Amino acid sequence: ASARDLDLRFGQYDRAADRVVARQISLEVELRDALERQEFVNFYQPKIDLRTGKLTGAEALVRWRHPQRGLVQPSEFVPELERTGLVIAVGRQVMQRAMQDWRAWREAGLQPPQIAVNVAPAQFRCDSLFSDIEQALNTAGAEMHPLSIEITESSLVSDHDRVVDILSRVRALEVPVAIDDFGTGYSSLSYLVSLPVDVMKIDRSFVTRMSQDAGYMGLVSTVVSLAHNLDLKVVAEGIETEEEAKLLKLLRCEQGQGYLYGHPVPADEFAALLDAA
Ligand code: C2E
Ligand code: MG
Ligand code: MG
Ligand code: MG
Repeated sequence: ASARDLDLRFGQYDRAADRVVARQISLEVELRDALERQEFVNFYQPKIDLRTGKLTGAEALVRWRHPQRGLVQPSEFVPELERTGLVIAVGRQVMQRAMQDWRAWREAGLQPPQIAVNVAPAQFRCDSLFSDIEQALNTAGAEMHPLSIEITESSLVSDHDRVVDILSRVRALEVPVAIDDFGTGYSSLSYLVSLPVDVMKIDRSFVTRMSQDAGYMGLVSTVVSLAHNLDLKVVAEGIETEEEAKLLKLLRCEQGQGYLYGHPVPADEFAALLDAA
């Protein structure tokens, strides 16, 4: 049979599936090299107090400085890091680097705010989390609280006792915990509110829809009240317009993050921002 006959018999589908697998394998190899060559870099995005406009914190967001492709966004490689478990090593590097930067800013006479680091589900359930945090805190060498972590709802849903145990151990290190992308998971409210956490981050999709849809406005209002009743702080993600900021202030949401206040920027640009503050 000719190659063309074979193609017809086995169909395009198998070849497409082969290509997907081949691409995954080469991406995995590339990501391992990237880790070794330290091509992952931290960007920092400000978090602000919605009433005063003052800086209250920053979130570390990983980027891949690819030698050929330039700056690669997390959506293109974090899922693969998670699939391969590499996210544990990369996450450790992001946390360590965040505390190195924090210390360098201090030593430069700046007043860096608390830095939030995203912790992936696999990293959250890995025993090295605690020693990673301790090591990062030692690097910062701070008498203050330089680090917090953000965990998505999906890492928290199963295995309640284990989750509570991990969260309690993190908090014992005086590292506050935020639930990231709050509202996008499928966990029950009663489950989430029983967890020892400090902050709720309202997902960007709610913030975006709020100004067009009264239903979403009501939803955000309810989440803010719920959080306050539980003594949690609320941070709204993805604020892009003055209108959104105004509505969130009306709803008594105290902190915000979004392009309106600042995009994620490299460490040196963030330092310049601190210097100007
Ligand atoms: P996330 O933790 O919810 O981070 C917020 C994302 O929203 C960031 O995207 C940020 O750049 C983006 N963003 C902030 N303000 C605005 C806005 O006003 N408008 C819009 N359209 N977007 C805004 P980014 O940096 O692409 O990161 C995407 C996701 O990748 C993060 O979502 C987080 O889940 C994951 N990620 C990023 N860095 C890390 C990391 O170091 N470790 C792990 N495990 N995940 C990370
Ligand atoms: Mg992005
Ligand atoms: Mg986050
Ligand atoms: Mg988020």
